[in-house]
Amino acid sequence: MTTDNHNLFVALRQAFPADLDATAIETADTATPLYYTWRDLERGTAMLANLIDSLALPPASRIAVQTEKSVEALMLYLAVLRAGHVFLPLNTAYRASEIEYFIANAEPAVVVCAGKNFGWVSKIAFAAGTRHVFTLDEDRSGTLLDRAAFQPDTHTPARCGADDLAAVLYTSGTTGRSKGAMLTHGNLLSNALVLREAWGWRRGEQGRDVLIHALPIFHVHGLFVASHGALLAGAKMIWFSRFDPRAVAARLPQATVFMGVPTLYVRLLGEPALTQAACANMRLFVSGSAPLLQETFTSWQQRTGHTLLERYGMSETVMLTSNPYRPESARRGGTVGRALPGVGLRVRDETGRPLPAGEIGGLEVRGPNVFKGYWRMPEKTAEEFTADGWFKTGDVGKVDAEGYVTIVGRSKDLIITGGYNVYPAEVEGYINDLHGVAESAVVGVPHPDFGEAVVAVVVARPGATLDGAAVSTALKAKIANFKVPKHVAVVKDLPRNAMGKVQKNLLREQHQGLFTR
Ligand code: AMP
Repeated sequence: MTTDNHNLFVALRQAFPADLDATAIETADTATPLYYTWRDLERGTAMLANLIDSLALPPASRIAVQTEKSVEALMLYLAVLRAGHVFLPLNTAYRASEIEYFIANAEPAVVVCAGKNFGWVSKIAFAAGTRHVFTLDEDRSGTLLDRAAFQPDTHTPARCGADDLAAVLYTSGTTGRSKGAMLTHGNLLSNALVLREAWGWRRGEQGRDVLIHALPIFHVHGLFVASHGALLAGAKMIWFSRFDPRAVAARLPQATVFMGVPTLYVRLLGEPALTQAACANMRLFVSGSAPLLQETFTSWQQRTGHTLLERYGMSETVMLTSNPYRPESARRGGTVGRALPGVGLRVRDETGRPLPAGEIGGLEVRGPNVFKGYWRMPEKTAEEFTADGWFKTGDVGKVDAEGYVTIVGRSKDLIITGGYNVYPAEVEGYINDLHGVAESAVVGVPHPDFGEAVVAVVVARPGATLDGAAVSTALKAKIANFKVPKHVAVVKDLPRNAMGKVQKNLLREQHQGLFTR
C-alpha cells in the first residue's frame, strides 16, 4: 500500500480498474438486470459513509446488519469500512430471541434491518440503547438509502491501523452461545492478498475474471472470500441474491470463477445444463465451509472436466488452507490442501504433544489472518489460544508428509465410546460408499454402558430403499465393531444451516434418548 492508512476499503478501492465506467456488478435475479459501475461503488459507498459520519458515532461503533442480500447491502459493508466502524452481519434466518442476544452482546450504535422487521427489531434495539435503526430492502427501498441520497458522493476514508477492528462475525455456535469473532483490517487484507496470488485472480493483460456470486453475505465465504477476491482483482461479479441452480448454470458460460458450499455443487450437478461446454470459460470452482463428499468431487470432474478446489477456513481465521491452483492435478479430493503462505498449522494431541505426519489430533493455527479474540469474552479467548499463541481451531484432522490437510470433524463431534475414539468423518466415508446411500451424518448419543454410542443418520439415493440394520451389517465387514453404529436412522434429508453445514447438534438432540430413559 502506498499510504500508511490500513483501512481495508482503501486497498480495495486502489484495485478498482482505471475505467471506472466499466461494470463492477451485474444483478442476475432482479426483475431486469441492474448494472453497477465501479464509479457507482465509489459514489454509493461515499454517500453511505457520509451518512454514517453524520451520526457522529463513537469510534469503532458496531453497525449490525440483518437484511436480504443486495448490492446495496454489500455497499453498506464497504461504507462501514470506509467510515472506520465495525461491520456486524447477521444471518437472515435469526429470529427475535437470537437478535436480542446479538444486540445486547454487541451493543451496536446502528442497526439496519429489513422493512418488514422494523417493528420488532427497533423495539429490541432501542431497548438495548441503540440510537439509530434504518431499513434496507432488496428493491433498494428503505430509510437507509433515503437518508443517504442527501449525502455528498465524495468521502475521505477514515484512517485505520492494521490492528483496528473491521468486522465482528458471530460464529454459528452449535453449542452454547454464539461468540463474536473480532477481525481486523489487517486480518482481512492479508488473507485477501494471499488468496489473490494463490488462486491466480486475473487482471490487466490476462483479461479480467468474472465471478458468479451466489453465496450469502453474512458469512466469511460470501462476504470476505468471494467479494474481496473479486474487488481486489477488479473482477466483475454476476450477482445472485439467492442461489438458484438452473439460473446459475445458465450464467456459467459468461463466468470464469465460482465459489460455493458443497450443497451448491450437489444441486448444480442436478442441472442438465451443467456441461463441459457451459464451463468452457471457467477457470476455477472453489468449495468450502463444509466437507465435500468424494463423490461430488469425482462427479464434478466427470461432468465438467474441472477439478473442484477445496479450501478450509473459519470465521475466526478467514482462510487457512487451500488445494493448489496449479497444477490442477495436484488438487486432492478429501483433503483441504496445504496451509496458505503465512499460515502456520500444527497438529497436537489433548496433552499438547505435537503429532507426526498422518496422526489425528487438534488443528492449531497462527498467522496475520488469525482474529483478535472473541468480543467481550476474554476468558473464552484465552481458553482458545495456547500458551505460545496458537489458535485452537476446534477441528480435528491430520497432515500428510506433503502437507495436505484432512479434516475428520469438529473436536466436539468426536465420539468416545467404551473408551475408544470414533471420528465421525471416517464412519461417514464408509457409509457413503455403500450402495444406495446418498449421504450420512454420524453422531454420538448418551449410552449407559459405553458413555456414548455411535448413531448414523442416513439419506438414501433417489429411487433406492435403505434398511438401517442392513447398513450396520455391511459396515461390520469393513470397520472395527466399536465404530459400527448401534443405530442407523434412514431419513429424507439431513438438517443443514444456510452454509450447508449439517447441524449435528439437532441430530444429537433428536436421538439422545435412544439408549437412555
Ligand atoms: P464458519 O466459522 O461458520 O465458517 O465455520 C468454520 C468451520 O467449518 C471450520 O472450523 C470447519 O469445521 C468447517 N469447514 C470449513 N471449511 C471446511 C472444509 N473445506 N471441509 C470441512 N470442514 C470445513
